[in-house]
Amino acid sequence: MANTKFIFVTGGVTSSLGKGIISASLAKLLQARGFTVSIQKLDPYINVDPGTLNPFEHGECYVTEDGAETDLDLGHYERFLNIYTSQANSVTTGRIYQEVINKERRGEYLGKTVQIIPHITDEIKRRVKLLSARGKYDFVITEIGGTVGDIESLPYIEAVRQFRWELKNRCMVIHLTLVPYLAASGELKTKPTQHSVKTLLEAGVQPDMLVLRTAQPLTSDIKIKVANFCNVQKEAVVESRDLSTIYEVPLEMQKEKLDEFVLSHFGITIGEKPQLKAWKDFLKKYKNPKRFIELALVGKYVDLKDAYKSINEAFIHAGAFCETKVKINYIQAEDVNEKSSQEFFKNIDGILVAPGFGHRGIEGKILAAKYARENKIPFFGICLGMQVAIIEFAQNVLNLEDANSIEMDRTCINPVISLMEEQKLVNEKGGTMRLGSYSCKLSKNSKAYKAYSSLKIKERHRHRYEFNNIYKEAFSKAGLIATGVNLETQLVEIIEIPKHPWFVGVQFHPEYKSTVINPHPLFVDFIKAAVDFKIKNKN
Ligand code: GLN
Repeated sequence: MANTKFIFVTGGVTSSLGKGIISASLAKLLQARGFTVSIQKLDPYINVDPGTLNPFEHGECYVTEDGAETDLDLGHYERFLNIYTSQANSVTTGRIYQEVINKERRGEYLGKTVQIIPHITDEIKRRVKLLSARGKYDFVITEIGGTVGDIESLPYIEAVRQFRWELKNRCMVIHLTLVPYLAASGELKTKPTQHSVKTLLEAGVQPDMLVLRTAQPLTSDIKIKVANFCNVQKEAVVESRDLSTIYEVPLEMQKEKLDEFVLSHFGITIGEKPQLKAWKDFLKKYKNPKRFIELALVGKYVDLKDAYKSINEAFIHAGAFCETKVKINYIQAEDVNEKSSQEFFKNIDGILVAPGFGHRGIEGKILAAKYARENKIPFFGICLGMQVAIIEFAQNVLNLEDANSIEMDRTCINPVISLMEEQKLVNEKGGTMRLGSYSCKLSKNSKAYKAYSSLKIKERHRHRYEFNNIYKEAFSKAGLIATGVNLETQLVEIIEIPKHPWFVGVQFHPEYKSTVINPHPLFVDFIKAAVDFKIKNKN
């Protein structure tokens, strides 16, 4: 970490200002200039990781290559930067305290009173430095979750204060706030920003730069006012307007010279402005689609779009690649029945059954798979979505009595989806699923092989249940075959119905690996199949 520069991104006034997107955009701009960058998220909640959180509470749980269950912001980092993150990029208060308490029990602080300062703050600083030690990055951007002034954020802000003191000019703080527009008086208000900077100052931290979220353009006067009242240069006040897509933010931040100010702060020569050609090409295609398709996403967390964040983004990447606008209709699985499926799916060009846990909505998901199979609508089942397609086929094609997943019915007569062997002795819930990247061998004559153009792939997982190999032959004879298998464990990773135009189920989560620059091949081929379906059905 000899020369690594540390940038901390804090937020004030309100949550959900998009610190993750601003951090990822800055990282993108620095990366485009040839610097090595990593981003980290520090989350102030006490869960050790978000793996045990309901998606309704916290949005999607994102999984890294090394099997860390993390905050969905890590997904943005990977999608923007086209790099892999790891456990080291995601830290929670729970993890910090767990480490300190374990050390205390081992006697590593023997004789000392263990306290928030210095022990918790030291552990926070260690986690930040750890990232730079591993990757030898030019920049480490650390996003601090929550809002300044929250009790739970205090140890993090204190750690930032100490960091600045220790590292002097190798450290920088960017503070993100909101400038609300009061329609009644027709004014933009800077007071919340001033107050939020004051709160940071009370904790001993003077921000070096302010990013102001606003729905209206900021005048030069407003920027000068904020600069004067918050002790920063005028150039350090950056406007961040609401945009139609998050993928425009790096370009807007480039216009606002966010990266240039950061470089000048560290005394680094600014150099030439990167063209960001591939990024701009992507945006151009995204904004000028040549065709339009409508897909159904059947799941049980559909009221909160963040619950399926990576799937939504994967459709944006693959849609742009195919120059196709993809509209997603979110369908509550519980609402799908024999009668309503006609209504829900009649104008749909492809059906995706989403990942998930537990029994709620399972009948609706099974019906969605059935509808896609019988009506030859392109079908994409992800994780639970694949398991549901198998259950449906067992019930309606193989006519297996009481076919189900052990997860839904422990005592079913035909458990076509069973608990993985290694899961049988697992009692604890946190971090105990089959997690992270595993390899998979594809069959040559499969839709999966056609998509990937490779026989060996690696994808990320997050599940406890698996296809029950006892039934493999029966399925195969009836026309549902395993086209992707993990050769070490014989776990079925992909199933297909070759007679169907495009019916693919995957036990892994392809959505986690889709990025702007590398759209995921299965999402691309699913969209292509949906386009074909639409063309055929219109004629
Ligand atoms: N609940 C299923 C399992 O644990 C599927 C998990 C998922 O969709 N991520 O196997």
